[in-house]
Amino acid sequence: MLPFNAISSVFVERFILALVMALLAITISISRWGYSVDQAFYDAVLTRFPSEPPKDLLIVAIDERSLLEIGRWPWSRRVHAQLLDKLREADAQAVAFDIIFPDPDRYDPQSDQIFSEAIANFGSVVLSVHMEQTYQGGQILEVLPTPILASSAAALGHVHVEYDVDGVCRAVFLKEGLGEAYWPHLMLSLLNLVYPDEDYEIPGLRPNESITNSSFAISRDYFNLIPLAGPPPQVESVSYTDVIHDRIPLRTLSDKVVLIGATAQGMGDLIATPFGTMDGVEFNANIYKSLLHKTTIIPVDVHLHWIFSCIIVFVLILSGAYATPRQYFILTSVYVLSITLLSAIFILYARLWFAPLAVIIPLLLFYPIWSWRRLEQAIRFLRRELYRAQQEAESSNQQIDTKLAERLTFVAKIVGLSQWQISDGSSDGSKSFNHMKPIDVVSSDNFNRVSISWDESSDMDTKYSQLWRSAIDLNANVVEKPEKKPAELVTATIQSLRKATQEAEINRKFTRQCLENIRGAIVVTNIFGEAILINDTARSSFDLVEDKPLHLLEFLNDFQIDGNWLHLIQTAILEQTDISVEAKLANTEKEYLCQLVALNWQSKYTDTLLFSFTDITMVKESERARTEALHFLSHDLRSPVVSILALIEQYRNTKLNRDDVVEKSEVHSMLSDIEAYARKNLSFAESFLQLARAEIAGQSKFDLCDIHSVIDNALLMVRHPASQKKIKIDISRTMDDMWVEGDGELLERLLINLLTNAIKYSSSDTLVQVFAEVEGSNLVIKVKDQGHGIKPEDLPNIFQRFKRVAGQTNVSGAGLGLHFVEIVARKHGGSVRVESEFGKGSCFIVVLPAYQDDTLLDD
Ligand code: ADP
Repeated sequence: MLPFNAISSVFVERFILALVMALLAITISISRWGYSVDQAFYDAVLTRFPSEPPKDLLIVAIDERSLLEIGRWPWSRRVHAQLLDKLREADAQAVAFDIIFPDPDRYDPQSDQIFSEAIANFGSVVLSVHMEQTYQGGQILEVLPTPILASSAAALGHVHVEYDVDGVCRAVFLKEGLGEAYWPHLMLSLLNLVYPDEDYEIPGLRPNESITNSSFAISRDYFNLIPLAGPPPQVESVSYTDVIHDRIPLRTLSDKVVLIGATAQGMGDLIATPFGTMDGVEFNANIYKSLLHKTTIIPVDVHLHWIFSCIIVFVLILSGAYATPRQYFILTSVYVLSITLLSAIFILYARLWFAPLAVIIPLLLFYPIWSWRRLEQAIRFLRRELYRAQQEAESSNQQIDTKLAERLTFVAKIVGLSQWQISDGSSDGSKSFNHMKPIDVVSSDNFNRVSISWDESSDMDTKYSQLWRSAIDLNANVVEKPEKKPAELVTATIQSLRKATQEAEINRKFTRQCLENIRGAIVVTNIFGEAILINDTARSSFDLVEDKPLHLLEFLNDFQIDGNWLHLIQTAILEQTDISVEAKLANTEKEYLCQLVALNWQSKYTDTLLFSFTDITMVKESERARTEALHFLSHDLRSPVVSILALIEQYRNTKLNRDDVVEKSEVHSMLSDIEAYARKNLSFAESFLQLARAEIAGQSKFDLCDIHSVIDNALLMVRHPASQKKIKIDISRTMDDMWVEGDGELLERLLINLLTNAIKYSSSDTLVQVFAEVEGSNLVIKVKDQGHGIKPEDLPNIFQRFKRVAGQTNVSGAGLGLHFVEIVARKHGGSVRVESEFGKGSCFIVVLPAYQDDTLLDD
């Protein structure tokens, strides 16, 4: 993740770029750059969705046929008067002449009069006003119909249409005039005549600057774009001559709004429109229809256009600030499509024209610019990081970059090679060796060839060749083989990055493997006590489940220590000292040395706690054993000797010094006392030695032992003490074979200990029973007596070292016998347990795994 300041700098950069793009939108909007593309889009929308053709409108066309039949243009105004009469007769609603009558008829002044009367008689007739420039750059004149006609007309109207820079006509100013936009358009005048009562609000875009210009310039107002009904002809049209010559039924003309205009070739005013060329009169019909249905399209005011464009661009660019490049690519496409679609919807339904290019170009431009900036940043960042990583790698490599020869000498010592040699690869010095495997190494020095040989008898190939191989590989890796770097920057960076990532991966794996393979248990937590790392040893030793979160204090509470964990953690963190404490794991016999270190890993303050637990159960156990042994030596083993010395001293003082006559019986009694003490001492020392032997016994020295003969030997050994106490020993055993893998002497001693105890702790004239049975895969030996039994509270302790039941001063013993039994049983993979009832007797049960190899037994 990027750090906060990196995020904010990215955002600032995007903000600035968004501003630049917004400025670009303003520039495009004001300069009308890409205007033709906008217009092409506008035309595409309108031609794809043409408006309804005008109805109740009729064109009386001055076509070729009319010219043929009526004669060459200009016609006498009597003809027009005749037409008007016909139309009046047919009850047409209104008539608009898209023809200019600027001058009086010089040859037939009477005709003007007749035409004027016809106009007046008809009533709703609109005549055209024309603006005319006398010559190029010259004065512009308003050309009105000759006064006699103008005065009888119901209204006048200008017949100008507006051409775009591409020469295509799409729009019209509804008012126009010299100096002042005085004249309504011919079609507006016609509409006002047809619907005189309606309060018609003139649509259109008003000019921003003051309308009152110079009285010699044309002023225009109410700009409207005209949606067309489609390629001509879309409007019902009749030939002028047909009307004059009554070839048209009157009902065709009845109630119609009539436009009279020229369509004959070379005569009419042809207009280029998005649908192709169109007669002026047909264009006028479209104007009339869109005025009537209020479907003219009004362009968004220039100022509003650039304000909107800039806001939209700015907002849309910022809105994708947190998108990934892929998301932003999709987003840009969606934005561009939606703006295009919205613009089309505006044209068709809101009758508003918002040229979309000023928004689309900056949006489209932003994506590659932004991507380029991000790529630049990413590459710069990667190169910086790579450089840092390389520096680190170099410094660590320097530490291990010892000479190839030195390194190989060390490995050769471990592997036990008879010979090895490094050559520079050019000379083939390897010929003097018997077994050669030359390996080429590119090391820090230069190119080398390593040749090795070893004894044929040694198992070098299988055992050590891997070690040798990796030693050479490792050396070769110290210095990079010169790689051909790609010239292209991005590819080169990606290649270096891939290499760095691989190295980092190897390092991570190395660290992890080291941690996992440490024998001690490692638990690393953050400062909140949440586990960051728990190694395998810790998991298995403390039953930590992988997906269960670790609660540090709960976990630590399982370890009983001298002191308080919280206090220890506090000390480690605040005083930055390493803590070592011995801890006992609850409900187990396990003891650990716990070391706690507080680390500053990610910040400059303590943020990590590292606990390592070393199992010291064995160490503590042997420490305890040593202390007990010392105690035993200093007390139990010493006391019989002290007693013997005391006896001798007493005898010397009382008898010998006073030259008393010493009774034979006295000497006898003293000697038997001494003997008893000496035997006691010997027995202690023997028990001690036996125990030491049992403790070091290992499976490597085990043989097959027949338990039957072990029992027989043991019985032989205890026969004498048993008979002394008149105790009978009964044996009940299976006839099956009883083989175990073990140490016969130790097993015999185990049984002797149990039998001796049974005799020792039983009264005279009692019975001791020995049972030997096979139970499944185990052999079970039981020694049952009718002795004193053991109190339940003493039962858990009797197998412990030097543990004796209190109050048995009259029975000799060191408390090692049962401990020996327990160790020997355990060393043989078995166990021992006791069932006892105080006052009634005890039964010691030894379970040993039987030897399983049937083939051997069959032999
Ligand atoms: P010791 O040298 O005292 O006999 P052991 O380890 O052999 O040491 O036995 C430990 C204790 O267990 C004895 O002190 C004795 O109280 C008790 N004990 C062992 N065997 C018997 C038994 N067969 N009957 C009663 N108590 C026994």
